[in-house]
Amino acid sequence: MNTQQFYINGKWIDSVKSQTIEVIDPATKKLICHLANATPMDVDVAVQAAKQAFGSYSVLPLKDRIELLEDINALLIKRNDEIAEVISTEMGAPLNLSKNAQAPSGSQHFSAILEILKTYQFSKTTPQGTCIRKEPIGTCALITPWNWPMNQIATKVAPALAAGCTMVLKPSEIAPLDAIILAEICHEAGVPAGVFNLIHGTGASIGDSLTSHKDIDMVSFTGSTRAGIAISKSAAPTIKRVALELGGKSAGIVQGKVDINKVAQQVVESSMLNSGQSCNALTRLLIPSDQYDLLSNEIVNCVEKLSLNLPEASPDLGPLASGAHFEKVRQYIDSGIQSEATLLTGGLEIPEALKQGFFVKPTVFGDVTENMPIAREEIFGPVLCLMKYEGLSDAIDIANDSEYGLSGYVWSDSHQEAVNIAEQMRTGMVHINGAGLDSNAPFGGFKMSGNGREWGEFGLDEFLEYKSIFGGAT
Ligand code: NAD
Repeated sequence: MNTQQFYINGKWIDSVKSQTIEVIDPATKKLICHLANATPMDVDVAVQAAKQAFGSYSVLPLKDRIELLEDINALLIKRNDEIAEVISTEMGAPLNLSKNAQAPSGSQHFSAILEILKTYQFSKTTPQGTCIRKEPIGTCALITPWNWPMNQIATKVAPALAAGCTMVLKPSEIAPLDAIILAEICHEAGVPAGVFNLIHGTGASIGDSLTSHKDIDMVSFTGSTRAGIAISKSAAPTIKRVALELGGKSAGIVQGKVDINKVAQQVVESSMLNSGQSCNALTRLLIPSDQYDLLSNEIVNCVEKLSLNLPEASPDLGPLASGAHFEKVRQYIDSGIQSEATLLTGGLEIPEALKQGFFVKPTVFGDVTENMPIAREEIFGPVLCLMKYEGLSDAIDIANDSEYGLSGYVWSDSHQEAVNIAEQMRTGMVHINGAGLDSNAPFGGFKMSGNGREWGEFGLDEFLEYKSIFGGAT
């Protein structure tokens, strides 16, 4: 695997400077590789390649773009297990999760876009005879995080290629290896030179040069709200489109006499999957006071059955993705312990056999109140906060009292009541009674969780500009 070069203009090329970043295995803290670290000059070379390729790629007939996407998709499926192993090594996801969810999410997004392209209308005509076209927005910078690395890359690369855009991908420097496999796949599938380019680097080293670049027409970013703000500022003078998928602090509301065992299991899965490192993870659960003891006991039972181990053992939880992240999550757990909250399970102790990696026990706090940092700030780890409520309107107010608005969860014994609660949640998504995500529905958030929408036709729309040709109807 070529970690020492960038994939630009259809070739693997050296950085102008030989500076590198260490990529660390979070399960062992051992060095996986040195990764080439781009400079602003490398960024410019990649952007110019993408800009150059836009002219011919943007007018490539749709059927040829579809063929390219199909070829990429077939290779993603073929290399699924290899991608899964790389993801487990770079960010610590349990191998079964990588094989069954992390890696296949790449081909799932390509398949979904291919399905959409069968009926998608790139143009329509108004009654006045105006032709409204949707045209590719141009040269895009795609910047992605480490937590579901292939998923976040594919939700951008698939629609960008489908729309006719060219791109520079900068994956997370913490989990960059699956992106290298995708570059190999794009090459093998025959993506024209310059259409897909891959560079590596940190936000500090190249973030600004990429997002402020005058030849980048759009930035599609997934990551922290902190970086989203910096990117918005950096992009502003060039009036480019900035699509942001940012952090979350998603709440769940339990209402009525629910099935305690079923709800406890779904709560634990929604909060602990991928070691809680999902932007839409359930992080605070509002429970009616008359059911609090019963449900909190069952949640603790379920959490205590979760296994924590090395990724290759396919446990329920692997290590956290990096040393810095491990420290941050432990600080939040410590802040919960120091507060008036009750530590119900988990905590700061690390099992002796796992001290060689960034392992954190799945942790549940009870008696959490709204102003505690663990109830307000994004922890992005296996930490669940349980909160008691008296009246439903209070629960909805507490759920909505957040700077974030990514996802919400409702469990109720009445479907109609659950829908009513969902409609009052100020979030881009709400799951009712354990319903899963839908690849045809938009994924994205309100408020400081971002302004973008990915997945399905909504993800494709983001990479398109409208053009009105008055009198253009044929
Ligand atoms: P991060 O913001 O630190 O980094 C994300 C990416 O942005 C990385 O590639 C990083 O190198 C780059 N970056 C950082 N600063 C930058 C800057 N100033 N300019 C340009 N690029 C910059 O986030 P992370 O730690 O990798 O990921 C975790 C965060 O991502 C969490 O907050 C999580 O909620 C969020 N996230 C959101 C979604 C969503 O769809 N809403 C999905 C996954 C993760």
